[in-house]
Amino acid sequence: MNLPTYAPENYTDYSQPAHHADYEAALEKVRGMLGRDYPLIIGTERITTEDKISSLNPCKPSQIIGRTSSASQDHASLALQAAWKAFETWKHSLLETRVGVLLKAASIIKARKLEFNALLTLEIGKNFAEAEGETAEAIDFLEYYARQALIHCQPIQTFQMPGERDHAEYIPLGVGVSITPWNFPLAIFLGQAAAPIVAGNTMIVKPAEDAGVVAAWAVDVLLEAGLPAGVINFLPGLGEIVGKTLVEHPKTRFINFTGSKNVGLWINAEAAKVQPGQRWIKRVTLELGGKDGMVVDETADLDAAADAAVAGAFGFAGQKCSALSRLIVVQDVYPALLEKVVARATKLVMGQAEDNANVNAVINKESYDKSKIYLELAPKEGRVALGGAAGDGEGYFIQPTIVADLKPEARLAQEEIFGPILAVIPVKDFNEAMHVVNDTEYGLTGGLFSSDESRLMHAERELHVGNLYLNRKITGAMVGSHPFGGFNLSGTDSKGGGPDYLLHFMQMKSIARKI
Ligand code: NAD
Repeated sequence: MNLPTYAPENYTDYSQPAHHADYEAALEKVRGMLGRDYPLIIGTERITTEDKISSLNPCKPSQIIGRTSSASQDHASLALQAAWKAFETWKHSLLETRVGVLLKAASIIKARKLEFNALLTLEIGKNFAEAEGETAEAIDFLEYYARQALIHCQPIQTFQMPGERDHAEYIPLGVGVSITPWNFPLAIFLGQAAAPIVAGNTMIVKPAEDAGVVAAWAVDVLLEAGLPAGVINFLPGLGEIVGKTLVEHPKTRFINFTGSKNVGLWINAEAAKVQPGQRWIKRVTLELGGKDGMVVDETADLDAAADAAVAGAFGFAGQKCSALSRLIVVQDVYPALLEKVVARATKLVMGQAEDNANVNAVINKESYDKSKIYLELAPKEGRVALGGAAGDGEGYFIQPTIVADLKPEARLAQEEIFGPILAVIPVKDFNEAMHVVNDTEYGLTGGLFSSDESRLMHAERELHVGNLYLNRKITGAMVGSHPFGGFNLSGTDSKGGGPDYLLHFMQMKSIARKI
């Protein structure tokens, strides 16, 4: 099977009036599709439960985007049975068939890109460019993993012992559980399921409570693309009920998780316990939070650094695991850089995602309340240079906030906030900056702005993060170019969108035949 070389999906520029008008039309169309109910999908059955989970527009929480059914512990067991049954045939399916499903799904989403964008705008409050980036990433994951399967699902040449015919091959693990967060509810949701599926596994997918509708749409795309019943089982529900049951269940073979540090660490510990009747050691991939730092030294291009800081800190209201949340600045350029960052951030418009405002609401009441705790702390730990308050009216709005003059050990400088709040930390010199940037329990993204070659090289060696960015913003990893995953308590460094990702969901079988 020969495919054209992988290339990422192009972005549409919605600042152009014609494209903007198309987006408005897609929003109108999707508004007409709101309020629907989405069932669980287990094998061939679509099951509607009495309990429902409502997904709300964070910018306008009185607007119900849709309601998913809510899976119980019994549904988890049924889904595992259905997935193991489907595994018996899917593991023997032709590689071309599996690859074909991913490519077909990519083409369906490409054709409906504006609709998916519009749904992301309404369901989780992504403005047009953020939504476009996510839908494009979902397409990229499908295209990229399809090609990776063609590489990895092949016999492997080994050294031939005299008198033997020897080879090895990667085979799928079995039934996996994918548990995903709300902040990339299309791209991460699809990527985490599609990679194991194309490798021959069958999956149970548990989306985040705040973004069940786009996940339901994504599952429908995979089914429309030809995925047989039971290969994907859709189990929306509460993390602490159905998520917990799936993690603990003896029939779960592997867990692919992205979410918060605390839930991820709990999953890691729980999955390590061998339950009665369990016949394997569960494999766990975890991609967790971050407290991502960017250093600016006295040799840096300060305008470029300020642009990157604002994009990294306030894109999607700081709700990316890769978001810039610690700006670490060498004292010689500290006042000048801070002034530039504040000047740029002052121009950001806070408002509705569907109006394409720059800074949209945070996802829910819990997140809004959490951000407010840090806003209260801000003047005690540092100096509020911009923002510092919640927005008024409906919607979970938090002003883009810059807190300057923070000590590296301040809570604002150490804890993941997941909102539009940037901590700025002055340091004496480059050496101190390198110490401060690494002095966190996390290690997801990080960066340096400098024009000094030896410092850039030093950062390449010593800045301890899974994704390092030099002289550019620290968000916006591209599938295939920037394999994504964190060090330390940011995760198991599984590197989604990278060349080894599929191997997490496969095991190598070595076969020696005497001749
Ligand atoms: P979360 O941990 O609250 O929830 C993630 C998922 O876990 C949800 O589907 C939830 O229902 C489920 N869950 C909750 N409790 C569970 C339990 N006991 N057992 C099983 N499942 C359970 O995270 P969130 O608020 O949805 O997402 C934000 C977090 O995700 C942030 O910390 C962010 O940094 C992180 N994140 C990391 C990456 C990455 O690639 N490293 C990407 C996106 C988000």
